[in-house]
Amino acid sequence: MTRPAIYLDHNAASPLRPEARAALVAALDLVGNPSSVHAHGRALRDTIETGRRQVARLAGAESKQVVFTGSATEAITQAIVGGAKTFASGAIVISAGEHAAVSKAAEATGLPVWTIGLDAQGRIDLDQLAAALVRADAEHVTFLAAFHWVNNETGVIQPIDRISALVGPTRHTLFIDAVQAFGRLPLEFSASAPDMMAISGHKIGAPAGIGALLVKSHADLVRLIPGGGQEQGRRGGTESAALIAAFGAAAEATNYDAEVMRALTRHVELGLRTMAPDVKIFGEAAQRIGNVVNFAVPGIRNATAMMSLDLSGISVSSGSACSSGKVGASHVLAAMGVEKSLAECGLRVSFGWNSTVVDADAFLAGYQSIVSRQRRAGQAA
Ligand code: PLP
Repeated sequence: MTRPAIYLDHNAASPLRPEARAALVAALDLVGNPSSVHAHGRALRDTIETGRRQVARLAGAESKQVVFTGSATEAITQAIVGGAKTFASGAIVISAGEHAAVSKAAEATGLPVWTIGLDAQGRIDLDQLAAALVRADAEHVTFLAAFHWVNNETGVIQPIDRISALVGPTRHTLFIDAVQAFGRLPLEFSASAPDMMAISGHKIGAPAGIGALLVKSHADLVRLIPGGGQEQGRRGGTESAALIAAFGAAAEATNYDAEVMRALTRHVELGLRTMAPDVKIFGEAAQRIGNVVNFAVPGIRNATAMMSLDLSGISVSSGSACSSGKVGASHVLAAMGVEKSLAECGLRVSFGWNSTVVDADAFLAGYQSIVSRQRRAGQAA
């Protein structure tokens, strides 16, 4: 199968960076097991520790705070399901805009899940978070709070500083799903308040199958997969030196330019407004990460638009596709109070390291023909 000509779905997965591919291929030629003490094993161990340093640098973490996992979902599960046993006596607190990796892990703890709402711009409601803190005091319980930093559907940046100021000084534990922030915002993990964060390789141009839990020493008690004691006993299973090398190389190559991304998204937003003045851009008044436009033109359903764009070789997303590939209703847009009929028109265009204005223009041309078709059909009716 040939690759789609225009790829605008970087929030789902970014294309493999050449640096990551080269590191991956080189490490695949290494022989042995990184736990072996002989020269072959040591070469693999060195590769892993180089990757760890590279990932740690981009995350503003110390190398020893990086625990490699098979995905961000695994890291999130370790933090929440594992963390709940140790850190939460009463509840898991999440927002209504979390990725399923977070909300399903919260459910899996068996503890009550307290859900904090989003405002109409997709921001976590801090008053509700303050109320949860009061409730926990009244009920004499501790909770583990798990919030995303950047929303994968809308690109809305959550007020992590203010969340940290609220939860950080308390006896509660704070976990941040930093998957869509890593490489785009400075995480400064070591110096920040959150106890744990999760990141993922395939969002920054490494292959899928590698992620990491960032964990401070005081929170480093969770052992979901003890196994053979790898990752200092924090995640058993023979490490994939090749995937770690690729993750490290992708981290080192990451040079996210917010201005370039914003120029692309502004260009798309302007184009959309020109062709469809009734377009609704979700999270428009909130602070957004800059590489994403999530929008809806009333009457143009996302499933139809995606199919039509796909036929023209343009890959975008509804933002809410579930793993079966079906376009599902977006829980994020629902939490923002967006009407179902409009949410069903929501499309997500997300740019990344190899995106250019040619991609943006191709998308605009593709979407323009959908809008024109709809307008013609409307006139004929
Ligand atoms: N959290 C967010 C915000 C995401 O966007 C994703 C992936 O889309 C994940 C978690 C899960 O990451 P992974 O695919 O590495 O498990």
